[in-house]
Amino acid sequence: MSELVSLGIVAQTGLIAHGRGEAFDYLIGERTQPPASKAEEAAAALLLEAKAPVVTINGNAAALAARELVQLADLVGAKVEVNLFHRSDERVRKVCDFVERESGRKVLGRSQDAILPGIASDRARCTKEGIMSADVVLIPLEDGDRAEALVKAGKKVIAIDLNPLSRTALAANITVVDELTRAVIGIVGAVDMLRGDPAARKKILSNYDNRGCLDDMMGIMRSNLGEGSAGHNRDVRC
Ligand code: ATP
Ligand code: MG
Repeated sequence: MSELVSLGIVAQTGLIAHGRGEAFDYLIGERTQPPASKAEEAAAALLLEAKAPVVTINGNAAALAARELVQLADLVGAKVEVNLFHRSDERVRKVCDFVERESGRKVLGRSQDAILPGIASDRARCTKEGIMSADVVLIPLEDGDRAEALVKAGKKVIAIDLNPLSRTALAANITVVDELTRAVIGIVGAVDMLRGDPAARKKILSNYDNRGCLDDMMGIMRSNLGEGSAGHNRDVRC
């Protein structure tokens, strides 16, 4: 991660966000918990049901899982758009180059020709072909402002965020409270399982309760804290 800061892929503040994520990961025992598996299944179902899905990638997401996120996008027929929080033309170019080199696929975001309403800064910039035309957007490690703006713009939003209390986690339609690399593996596994089963996808989506999953994840964190450890090597269930 720190090596990717010196290359300009991860912003300085991205390192702090990464540390926040690690702290929350300790609280869930550094493994995928059952409510997160449920959210991963729902995310897979929604991505497969989508007409115009988009996977967004920022600096941290690129550093942790560029290739895996692009593979997931390919599996569900999604476009990939690089969308940075700490934006400069130089960083956009660097992160696009990095993701394309890692994944061997072209990504959107190098030139941005649309503005997401509700955000004052140039963080609102995105592409017409990608985010603006999307019905479902997967946002790994996203900031709350943009998550809220995407929901307001009528998109169905899937967040991957280890903090169940973040504005992003609370705004999203589906919040996967799991570490990014584990979450992508979980979603890919569920995509394989649900690909040929539209009835199962619809059932999963109609039964899915995001607030319930968030509450259950917070319950797991509380219980791990109450036990005086982060739940390492314990079988903690909700
Ligand atoms: P918000 O803006 O949504 O209220 P925030 O300002 O605390 O949240 P941001 O920096 O905007 O956080 O977004 C980064 C989020 O990504 C944080 O909630 C952090 O916990 C989470 N995060 C960091 N690393 C990982 C990771 N490896 N896997 C999943 N989530 C992570
Ligand atoms: Mg934020």
